[in-house]
Formats: sequence, structure tokens, C-alpha cells
Amino acid sequence: MNPWFGKAIILASSIVMVLIRAPHGQRSRGVKVVRSRRGALEIVLLTLAWVAFFVPLVWVAAPVFAFADYPLRPAPLLAGMVCLAVGLWLFARSHADLGTNWSLTLEVREHHQLVTQGSYRALRHPMYSALLLYALGQALVVPNWIAGPSYAVAMSILFAFRLGPEERMMLEEFGKDYEAYTVRTKRLIPGIW
Ligand code: SAH
Repeated sequence: MNPWFGKAIILASSIVMVLIRAPHGQRSRGVKVVRSRRGALEIVLLTLAWVAFFVPLVWVAAPVFAFADYPLRPAPLLAGMVCLAVGLWLFARSHADLGTNWSLTLEVREHHQLVTQGSYRALRHPMYSALLLYALGQALVVPNWIAGPSYAVAMSILFAFRLGPEERMMLEEFGKDYEAYTVRTKRLIPGIW
């Protein structure tokens, strides 16, 4: 198949992702941060995630990664489109549910509330699930061994280092309420983990 199918889908889904986040980023900038756990490792991993987000767009625009291209096939393209669509839907949903409690990094904001409803009813990290699903979709839609999996690799590393500290931070902040919430929910995959 023509790789431009993959290129058009990646371009469109990257734009949708930025458009979903933009108003929430804007809104949360107006809410004071009262505690931050952003260490050096978090900054390095966030930078890595940003670079990895742009690698597929570089692949769309220029032939720098052409040596790692492989043929695009309909089945992975279709499966990837489903992952991207579901990932973007859950990304929008979890952002709406989290409201101004959202932060790009590990932070507690003024009047921070523990969200346990909507997409947070069964999962403690629906936004991370959404981003991993999106990253998987990207890996399937981009027929290139570097640009395809780059975001999935970066996000897996970021979340592997972040889940523990984030849950400890929430436990310190919300005590017994978060403990009870942890008991009745899973981390990333409904009913499994
Ligand atoms: N890990 C969550 C949230 C990602 S945004 C998810 O994947 O959906 C990261 C910030 O959200 C953290 O710094 C924390 O302050 C906040 N947060 C995480 N879980 C929360 C919850 N259940 N209720 C309110 N805020 C939460």
C-alpha cells in the first residue's frame, strides 16, 4: 500500500491529539501548583517523550528514516486506525474527567480533588492507557522501524518510572480515600492490571 495512507493518518491524529490537550493545558495553567514531584529523571523522560512524539512527523515530512521503511499492509493499518481512534477518544474523555486536576507531570494543584468517576471508575490511569493505545496505533500505522515504535518505547519508559511515584503522591495526598480507590480499580488494563 502507498505509505501516504499512514502518513495522512499520523498527521491527522497528531493534530487531533494536540487539539484535545490544548484547552486543558491552557485552563490548568491558571490553577496554582501547591506541590511538585518533578525531579531530574522526570524532566529527562518527558523530553524523551516529546522528541518521540515528533519522530513520526519527521518521517512524514522528510526521508531521514527512509532506510528503516518497510511495506505498509492493510491489516496493521486498519488495526492501527482502531487503536488510534479508541486512544484519542479515551484521551479526550480522561482529560474531561480530570479537569483542572490534570498536570503534565507529578503535581498537586490548589483545591485538588480525587477523581474516581467516568473513565477513572475502573482504571487509575486511563490517560496513560489512552496514550499507550495511541502509541500502539502509531506503531502499526507507520511502516518504519524507527518512527513507528518511537512513541510507544518512550511512553512505556516514562510510565514505568512514573506509575509508582504518582500513586505514592496520591496516597500521601488523599490517604484512605486513595487506598480504597486503589483496592477497587486496576492501573492500566480494565479487569487485568
Ligand atoms: N495518571 C492519570 C492522570 C495523568 S495526569 C491518568 O493516566 O489518567 C497526571 C496528574 O494527574 C498527576 O500529577 C496527579 O496530580 C493527577 N491525578 C492522577 N490521578 C488522579 C485522580 N484519580 N484524581 C485526581 N487527580 C489525579
